[in-house]
Formats: sequence, C-alpha cells, structure tokens
Amino acid sequence: MSNVQPSQLQAKTLLPGATIGVLGGGQLGRMMALAGTAMGYRFVTLDPTPGSPCGQVTPQIEAAYGDEEAARKLAERSDVITYEFENVDAGVAALLERESYVPQGSALLYTTQHRLREKRAIEAAGVPVAPYREVTDLQSLVVAAGELGLPCVLKTATGGYDGKGQAVIREADELETAYRELAASGSELVLEKFIPFRAEVSVIAARSPKGEIKSFPVSENIHVNGILHLSIVPARVEENIQREARKLAERLAESLNVAGLLAVEMFVTEDGGLYVNEVAPRPHNSGHYTMEACATSQFEQHIRAICNLPLGDTTLLIPVVMVNVLGQHLDEAVKRAGVPDPSLNEFGIVPKLHLYGKTESKTGRKMGHINLLCKDVQHALDWVEQTHIWRQG
Ligand code: AMP
Repeated sequence: MSNVQPSQLQAKTLLPGATIGVLGGGQLGRMMALAGTAMGYRFVTLDPTPGSPCGQVTPQIEAAYGDEEAARKLAERSDVITYEFENVDAGVAALLERESYVPQGSALLYTTQHRLREKRAIEAAGVPVAPYREVTDLQSLVVAAGELGLPCVLKTATGGYDGKGQAVIREADELETAYRELAASGSELVLEKFIPFRAEVSVIAARSPKGEIKSFPVSENIHVNGILHLSIVPARVEENIQREARKLAERLAESLNVAGLLAVEMFVTEDGGLYVNEVAPRPHNSGHYTMEACATSQFEQHIRAICNLPLGDTTLLIPVVMVNVLGQHLDEAVKRAGVPDPSLNEFGIVPKLHLYGKTESKTGRKMGHINLLCKDVQHALDWVEQTHIWRQG
C-alpha cells in the first residue's frame, strides 16, 4: 500500500457530469449512486456478483475485487474512484491510486483494516479508546487479561464485522477456548477491556480535500446478535455528551486526514465518558437515518466531499428511528411499512422503506431498512415493538 496521503494529492473539484467509479456493488454503493445520480453524476461499479445492488442502478464491471485488469478498466472509465468497503486489496488500491484519482487515498484503508493500527491512530489524535493489549499467543493473553481485568473482549485484528470474530471472556477458564477459536482465523488478536456502556452511539463526519469538516447528529444504536437493529435520533443522551461525541468525530476526521466520510462508533459510560470502538472510512448503516431526516443525506455528503464541493447542511429536520430489515423480517416489513399499514398513522409515523434489491433473502442478511419519521422517537420505538416483526432478533 502506498503512503500517499489525500492531502498530498492535488485536490480536484469534480462537477456534475463526471463519472464516479465505485469499488464494491453492495447497498452502500447503490445508495451512493442513487444520491449522486440525482446530483447529475455518472457511475460505474466493480463487483463480482451479477446484478449486484449497485449494479442494478449503474453499469457494472463484473470481476473479483482483487482483479487488477478489471480495476484498470474501472480507472479508465472513471474521473474519480471511491469504495464502499474497507477490505480493498492492497495491490488494487495502489494501482487505482497510480492510474486514477482516489481522493480518499489508501493510507486510511490500511489503518482501518487492522484494529491495532486503528486504535493507535485514534489514540494519536488524543481520542480515547477502551484499554487494550496486543495478543500474540496464549501466554500473552493470560498476562493481558491479568492487566486489564475481567470481563474483557478478545477480537481478531482483521476481518471481523457485525460482531463476528470476537468473544467476551468473563471467567479465567474461558481464556484458552476463546484464544483457540479466534486464533484459528489466522489473524492477529487484540484484547480489550469490557466497557459497561449505558449507550452505543455513532457520529458520521465528512471532510473534503480542501479541509472543510461537518458532522451529522449523534445516532443512538441498538445491536441485536452483533448486527445493528435500531438507530435512534436524537440520541437519548445528554446534549453535552452529544456535543463531545461530534467534536471527537470531527477531530478524528481532521487527524486521519479523511476525504469523504468517517463513521465513528463510540460507547457512552455511566459517568458520561466516551470511548471510540471502531471507525470506518465510508457511509455507515448507522447513518441511513439521514436519507430523509437530515437536510443532506450521508450519501450526498460523501459525493460532495470526494468531489470537493462545499459540504451540505447536516441539520436534523425531524426525529427518526431507523430499523434494519434483515432476511427474516423482509416479508412482514414490506407488508407493514411498504403498503403501508394504517397503524403507522395512529402512531403519527411516516415510514420510508428502502430495499437493496438483493435476490437471495437469508437470516441475518441486510435486505433493507425503514426510516420511521416521527414526532417523538418513543412513538416509533412503540410501533416497532408492537409489530412483533423484530421480536426474534
Ligand atoms: P465491534 O465488532 O467492535 O463493533 O463490536 C460489536 C459489538 O460488541 C459492539 O457494538 C458492542 O455492543 C460489543 N462490544 C465490542 N467491544 C466491546 C467492549 N470493549 N466492551 C463492551 N462491549 C463491546
């Protein structure tokens, strides 16, 4: 991976009419392309799956993400390249930077692909993370657990997502099993102190190559089985904590030299402390609420940032609860929110259903989401509860 920082590249301004190449054809690419198409940009995506969610709305180059010949074709057809996931192949990232314009650069990808590198970069910005230790073998895990105290969380440094690749360790006799299970992945490991959080929140910040920074309102996130279930905005935490969370996210966007979006997930402790858990240099599931609830969506903001346009207003226009629609929720959710169900009127809710066009519906697979626009987030939470659709997780 090259060490070229976005700031070292000549920042180009790309006006509507330019073609944006998207590496990855999932739902994030699709929603990015839908927002950008409305703004007058053209898109092309690279993804191995025929008719990928993004490929349904843009021309698609059908090839593996690591296919350098295909990446070269993407570069030829694009004025600017962005990505919708972090695990971009190092060779492809370097090639794209050489042969095209990638304002996000590859340095930040390199950092966020690895939990230890990511934590060190967050600490270097003066932003707190949960206390952690690098784990190289079982012996070092035992020593680290002694230093951090139990409970703690063992995580793979690479490849984990949606709560996969991690184990909570509550008793000393669980250390060895957890080590064997996670070490089998071949990834390096990191042990974190378990943070008894009162809430999980996230902030999406945007930074343009010319250095303008704006953050979106704080989202309160509820996970079920490690997968995001609800985003609640405004978050039900004190305003001073929300201000601090936004400040930390903006500081990270500056310090990490972000061009585009940076999603920052944090824990809020009982005493109001904030610890950053993870960052992602792309649009994020916890920012989907912005699509109808904010003056600018995270997807439009991402396009604005990578094209070096002035960033859009991030004001929250209406309270909102975003609920994810997984495979097991799909049929009922479409019936209740797609039609929509009269009970939504009784709750004073306007539902906005977004589906990602995935043909195969599987348990735990993200098929879409609903933004429940409301007067009071409790009304939307009550509606979600009384539908029974999400009771089983
Ligand atoms: P992650 O894959 O790091 O985003 O973790 C997935 C989920 O596991 C988080 O959203 C938290 O609910 C939980 N979790 C992760 N790390 C910790 C920690 N250090 N303390 C408490 N809960 C954690």
